[in-house]
Amino acid sequence: MAVSNDHKEKLEFIEEITKNTDQVQAKVLSEILSKNAETEYLKRYNMEGATDRETFKAQIPIVTYEDLKSEIQRIAEGDKSPILAADPISEFLTSSGTSAGERKLMPTIEAELDRRQLLYSLLTPVMNLYVPDLDKGKGLYFYFIKSETKTPGGLVARPVLTSYYKSNHFKHRPFDPYNVITSPFAAILCPDSFQSMYVQMLCGLIYHDEVLRMGAVFASGLLRAIRFLQIHWRDLANDIETGTLNKAITDASVRESVQDILTPNPDLAKFISDECSVENWAGIITRIWPHTKYLDVIVTGAMAQYIPTLEYYSGGLPMACTMYASSECYFGLNLKPMSKPEEVSYTIMPNMCYCEFIPLEQSYGKATGNLVDLADVEVGKEYELVITTYSGLCRYRVGDVLLVTGFHNAAPQFRFIRRKNCLLSIDSDKTDESELQKGVERAAELIKPYGAGIVEYTSRTDTTTIPGHYVIYWELLVKEGGRWPEKEVFDKCCLEMEEELNSVYRQGRASDIIGPLEIKVLQSGTFEELMDYAISRGASINQYKAPRCVSFPPIIELLDSRVVSIHFSKGKPQWSPQRKEMK
Ligand code: AMP
Repeated sequence: MAVSNDHKEKLEFIEEITKNTDQVQAKVLSEILSKNAETEYLKRYNMEGATDRETFKAQIPIVTYEDLKSEIQRIAEGDKSPILAADPISEFLTSSGTSAGERKLMPTIEAELDRRQLLYSLLTPVMNLYVPDLDKGKGLYFYFIKSETKTPGGLVARPVLTSYYKSNHFKHRPFDPYNVITSPFAAILCPDSFQSMYVQMLCGLIYHDEVLRMGAVFASGLLRAIRFLQIHWRDLANDIETGTLNKAITDASVRESVQDILTPNPDLAKFISDECSVENWAGIITRIWPHTKYLDVIVTGAMAQYIPTLEYYSGGLPMACTMYASSECYFGLNLKPMSKPEEVSYTIMPNMCYCEFIPLEQSYGKATGNLVDLADVEVGKEYELVITTYSGLCRYRVGDVLLVTGFHNAAPQFRFIRRKNCLLSIDSDKTDESELQKGVERAAELIKPYGAGIVEYTSRTDTTTIPGHYVIYWELLVKEGGRWPEKEVFDKCCLEMEEELNSVYRQGRASDIIGPLEIKVLQSGTFEELMDYAISRGASINQYKAPRCVSFPPIIELLDSRVVSIHFSKGKPQWSPQRKEMK
C-alpha cells in the first residue's frame, strides 16, 4: 500500500520508540524529574534533583486524586507557585471521573497539547496500512464541545476534547487529504448541542457519497447521531430539497458555515426521505452512506454494550477503536485498528508519560507485590495503571485495569479490562457502588413514611433505548401497619435518586445524553431466587452477596420476569456548569 513520506516517518517513529521502550521511559522520567525538580511536590519528598528511577520509586508515594486535592485546590484558587509542575498550569481538564460528586480537575500545561497532537498524528498512518484510499473521500465525525467554567483563580476548566477542538492545533491543522471531515468547525464549536448536531448531520448528508468513515468519540455518541436522524430527517431533507437552512439554527457562524454547500438538491432529499421513512432501520448507515468502510468509535470498556446496536445500524461494518487516552494523559493507540472489538489491544506509547503497573490478583483485582515498569509487564497478567506526567502528576493511579496481551517490539499491548469502581456507565458518566448506594438511600426516604423499605437492590444499564439509561431493581418490604406506596411516589423516587448521582451523570441527563432513570419494583422473594440461581452455578452460600450491578442475560431475564411495577424519572435532576466547591 502506498505510504507517503510523512506517514513513513510516523511509522518509523512508532517503531523506534517501541523498540526502545525502557530507554524512552527512563528518558521521560528523567526529563519530568529534572524539569520539575524545583516544584514543591518533588522537594517535599526530598528528591533533591535526582532523576533516576530508584530514588523516584523510593521517595515518591503512590497517590490518588484525593491525595492531591489540596494542591489542586490551591492551583484552582490562583496559587501560581510551582506546586506540581514547573511550567505554568494553562488550564484544568475536567475528567469524567468524579470526586465528591464533582468532575476531577486535572491541571495541565501548554506542552501537553503538542504531545496529544503527536499521538493523534500517528493514527492516520497506522489506519492507512489497513484501509486503502482514505484520502479519496471524507470522514463524517460527530464532535461536540461542552460547557466550560473558570476556577476562582481564573483558569479555564473544561473537558480535554473541548480544549483540543478549541485549540489552534485542531483549528489550524495543515490540510491533510487523509483527514478531511464533513463537519464545519463552526458547527463543532457551537455550544448549543442541537444546532451543532443538526448542522454536522446536514453536512454528512450533503456529502453522503463521499463519506468513507463515520465516527464519534464514543459509541454512545454515534448512536445519538442516528437517533437524531430518526427524529429530524424530515427537516434535514427539507433543507436539502430547498437549499435553505432550518430557522432553528440561529448561530450566525454556523449558518454561514453551510452557506456555500447547501444548495437545492431534490434528488438527494428524496433519497434521504425514502431511506428514512421505512420502518426498518437495519443497515441505515450503509444505505445512506454507501461507501463507509468502517466506524471510528471506541467500543472497548463500558462502550462494549453498544456493539450489537451499532452492528444493527451499520449492517456489521468493522468498528475501529483507535486510541486509549484520558484527561490525565493520552496513553497510546491500537496498532491493529481493524481488529474485532473483543480483540482490541492498545500499545502504550512510551514517550507520553512514565508508566508503572500495580500487579493485580486477577480474579479479585487486589494489588499484589511491587510496581512493575512498562517494559517489564508480563503477558497474561492484569495490572492497574500508575502514571507520572509532564503536567506534574507523580505516581498517580488512573483507576484503569489492563491485561497484557502481547508486545509490539518491546512495548506491551494492553486490553482494557475495566475501570475500578465503575458500576454503571452510559456515556462518559461513571457511577460507582457507593454513589449508587447513596442514591438508593436518598430515594428510600420517600417510601419510609409508608412503612416501606428496600430490602435489596441491583442495577444495570439499558442500552436498547437511545439514549441508554440506568435501571434500578428494588425489592421492598412493607412493615405491619404500613402500606404499599402509590405509583407517583415511586416515580418521584426515580428523580430523587438522580439528584443524588454525580455531576457527570446529571450533566448527561441535562443534555439528553442519558435517558430518564427507571426503577423496577420486584416481587418479594426475587433476590432469594437470584441467590438460589447463583448458588446453583457454583457461588458459595456463605459468601454470597447480591450483585449491585447485573449484566448476565439469564439474570436480567429472571429479574424482568418478576417485575410488579415500572417507573421512570419524570423530570431532570439539577445541574449547572458551575462546580459546587467553587461557588
Ligand atoms: P476521562 O478522564 O474523562 O478523559 O476518561 C478517561 C477514561 O476513559 C480512561 O481512564 C478509561 O477508563 C476510559 N477510556 C479511555 N479510552 C478508552 C478506550 N479506548 N477503551 C476503554 N476505555 C477507555
